[in-house]
Amino acid sequence: MKLLVIGAGPAGLSAAIYASRAGIETLVLGCQPKVAGNYDIDNYFGFAETISGQELIERGLAQAKRFGSDIHCERVLSVAQQANGGFLAKTESREISVQAVIIATGVSRARPSIENLRDYEGRGVSYCVSCDGFFFRNKETIVIGEGNFAANQALELLQYTPLVAICTQGNRPTMNEDFQRRLGDAKIDVIDGRITRLLGDGFLTKARFADGSERTVWGLFVAMGEASSADFANALGLERNGEFIQVDHHQKTNVPGVFAAGDCTGGFLQIAVAVGEGAKAGNSAIKYIRELRKRSRTLDG
Ligand SMILES: Cc1cc2nc3c(=O)[nH]c(=O)nc-3n(C[C@H](O)[C@H](O)[C@H](O)COP(=O)(O)OP(=O)(O)OC[C@H]3O[C@@H](n4cnc5c(N)ncnc54)[C@H](O)[C@@H]3O)c2cc1C
Repeated sequence: MKLLVIGAGPAGLSAAIYASRAGIETLVLGCQPKVAGNYDIDNYFGFAETISGQELIERGLAQAKRFGSDIHCERVLSVAQQANGGFLAKTESREISVQAVIIATGVSRARPSIENLRDYEGRGVSYCVSCDGFFFRNKETIVIGEGNFAANQALELLQYTPLVAICTQGNRPTMNEDFQRRLGDAKIDVIDGRITRLLGDGFLTKARFADGSERTVWGLFVAMGEASSADFANALGLERNGEFIQVDHHQKTNVPGVFAAGDCTGGFLQIAVAVGEGAKAGNSAIKYIRELRKRSRTLDG
């Protein structure tokens, strides 16, 4: 596979239309975006009458498929750069190697409602196992989250420490059977209590639960819901403006081969902008992949 587009909203589908129409093998992973409901869209160019968000997205999906995009409702749990410069993405059911990635995941990052969470960010609280797991070698850690994303982060933490637990913050665990089995095999406890306060003099050392109990914890990794653009940015070392991924006028990030488009880059959060940025990201990815192809031909010849 050449190009992975994460996100099947206006930005991701627009990128996929450009890339697949240019003959680039394109995989799009993402599910129904929020706007694909029964919402009236009145301000998108070319539709004199109101169109529903659902119909607009369905049309975009059909158009991307017409040009050969391979599109699946599948969640990406992590993306990492490989030694050869390519990227390895892990989903709930497979691993995929690609040459380039377009991040078009929209915005949303769920945070737990722990009153003093921010006081410990960078002092025990982290949002990225591959960035910060190393600092908690052989120490007690907790991953906060209820789904496959949290399970994957917890399993990744085992590279650094055997002392890993998951806390669902009182939410119902939604990990699939495969992840449940792997957590069981790795003896990772899934705690269903709710952490309400963090404790520690400067750095995190304990978590207090709603029932008043306390548990030693040096590293608290937030991985609620699904992996967000900020999670991918952390893992890939992308520059950010707060929660948003920083891009240039061609939607390039600071990492060659990684592009971003739509709401995840901030600015005016509208469909027209997402579609425009998706087009630019698709075009940049086409050029990047063609350049790689040319270079490998030169080396072969
Ligand atoms: C209710 C509502 C009404 C709106 N009305 C209007 C309007 O009238 N006009 C207008 O211009 N704008 C409107 N907007 C804003 C508009 O919807 C957004 O600006 C636009 O959808 C952004 O597109 P996007 O592709 O960047 O992100 P999104 O549309 O948010 O799409 C994100 C995609 O990423 C996928 N994704 C996220 N995380 C992962 C992961 N880990 N793995 C795989 N896939 C993932 C999601 O499943 C989804 O497919 C509205 C928004 C909402 C919520």
